[in-house]
Amino acid sequence: MLDALTQRLSSVVKTLRGHARLTEDNIQEALREVRLALLDADAGLPVVKDFVARVKEKALGQEVVGSLTPGQALIGVVHSELVALMGGTNAALDFATQPPAVFLLAGLQGAGKTTSAGKLARLLTKTTKKKILLVSTDVYRPAAIEQLATLAKNLEVDLFPSDTSQKPVAIAEAALDWARKHYYDVLIVDTAGRLAIDEAMMAEVKAIHAGVKPIETLFVVDSMQGQDAVNVARAFAEALPLTGIVLTKLDGDARGGAALSVRQVTGKPIKFVGVSEKMDGFEAFHPERMASRILGMGDILSLVEEAHAKVDRVEAEKLAEKFKKGKDFDLDDFKSQLQQMKKMGGMASLMDKLPAQLTQMASQSPELGEKALARTEGIINSMTPQERRKPEILKASRKRRIAAGAGVQVQEVNQLLNKFEQMQKMMKMMRGGNLGKMMRNIKG
Ligand code: GDP
Repeated sequence: MLDALTQRLSSVVKTLRGHARLTEDNIQEALREVRLALLDADAGLPVVKDFVARVKEKALGQEVVGSLTPGQALIGVVHSELVALMGGTNAALDFATQPPAVFLLAGLQGAGKTTSAGKLARLLTKTTKKKILLVSTDVYRPAAIEQLATLAKNLEVDLFPSDTSQKPVAIAEAALDWARKHYYDVLIVDTAGRLAIDEAMMAEVKAIHAGVKPIETLFVVDSMQGQDAVNVARAFAEALPLTGIVLTKLDGDARGGAALSVRQVTGKPIKFVGVSEKMDGFEAFHPERMASRILGMGDILSLVEEAHAKVDRVEAEKLAEKFKKGKDFDLDDFKSQLQQMKKMGGMASLMDKLPAQLTQMASQSPELGEKALARTEGIINSMTPQERRKPEILKASRKRRIAAGAGVQVQEVNQLLNKFEQMQKMMKMMRGGNLGKMMRNIKG
C-alpha cells in the first residue's frame, strides 16, 4: 500500500545536501518532487497545491537544527503537514450519553458498508463491553441482508431481522425501538448502496437519518477510487450531516490519494480504515501513524524528533542557568524566548514542555499566539538596549516612539509590558521557590 508514494518522497532527501538553512532556492527542487509524488498518488491538484504551499511557508527560513541534513529537515516539515492534512489526531467514535448510540453507514454499492458494519461490531465487542445490535435496511438486495446476517452469526453479534418486503425507514425505527427496549448500547444501521445523484435513494437515506437520529453518520468509501472517492464523499457530505469517514480497501493497490485529500475536501475526519477483506482488517485511523507509514522513513523521522528535542533541552538549560545565577529576566530574555517559540511552531507546541503555571498563563495570552509573536518581537526590536534591560524607564514619550517604530498602537506596547511584568514576577517567584504564592497570584 502507498509504496510508490513512499519511494518518491524518499528521493526528496537526496535532492538537498549541504545547506544550513532551507531557502526558496534550495528547496525548490525538493518541493517539486513532493508535488509530483502527491499528484502521482492521486491526491488531487487543489489539495496538493495547498499542501506544497504550506510546507514551503513552514520550511522557509527554518534553521536546519543539529546534525540533520536539509533534506531530513524538510521531511520533518512534510511529515507534520501530512499529519495536519489528515486531521491531526485520531477522531474517536462518539457514543450517546443516552444509549443506544446509533451508527449509520452510508455509501456507494460495493464500497464496503456491510463488511465495515461487521468489522465495527467486532471491534467494539473486542475492545469494549458494549452490547451491539446490527440491522440491514438494504431491501433492494436480499443478498445484502443475508450477508450481514451471516457476518453477525459468525461474529456472535445480535442482528435485528429484516426482509425485502419492508420499508427501510420502518426497519431502522423498529430496530431502534428494539435496541432501546433491550438495553443495547450501540445500534449499527447498514444502508443500501446509492449514488449521490440518485435523488430518491438520497432522500431515503436522509429519511432513515431523520428516523433514527444517529450520533455517528459514517460515509464508507473505497480508497481505490482515488479522486472519485473524494468527489462522492463531498456530495454525500453536502446531503447528510456526516460525522466521519470509513476508508476501505487501503490494502489494495490504492495510491493513497483519497486518504490524503478526503479530510480536507469534506472537512470530515477519517475515523477508520479497512485494511483487509477479513473481519479483523479494520483499524482506528491515526493521522500520525499514517503519515509515518506514507513517508516510510522512520529513521529520519526519529532523527528529526531527536534534533528538535535537543534544541529544546539546550534552551531549557540556558534558562535554568539564568535562574541559578540570579540574573534578572529582562526584555532581551523575553525576546529570545519568543524567538525560540516561533522556531518551534508557536506556543501550542511548547505547551507540554513548560511548567504548568507558565502554560496556564501563556494560554491566556493572545499575544503569545503564533501569529502575534512576530508583532511582539517587532515592538521589542524598536526599543533601545537600555530600554530592554530597564523597562521601568519607559514613560509615555518613549512608548509613543516605540509604537511608531513598530507600527502598532501605544496600547499594544502597554499590553506587552504588562505581560512581561507578570512573567518577570513569576520568574522571580519561581527562583524563590514560592510556588504557593505564585498559584494564588495566577488565580487572582
Ligand atoms: P457494500 O456494498 O458497501 O455493503 O460492500 P461490501 O461490504 O459487500 O464489500 C464489497 C467488497 O469489498 C467485498 O468483496 C468485501 O470483501 C470487500 N471489502 C470491503 N472492505 C474491504 C477492505 O478493507 N479490504 C479489502 N481488500 N476488501 C474489502
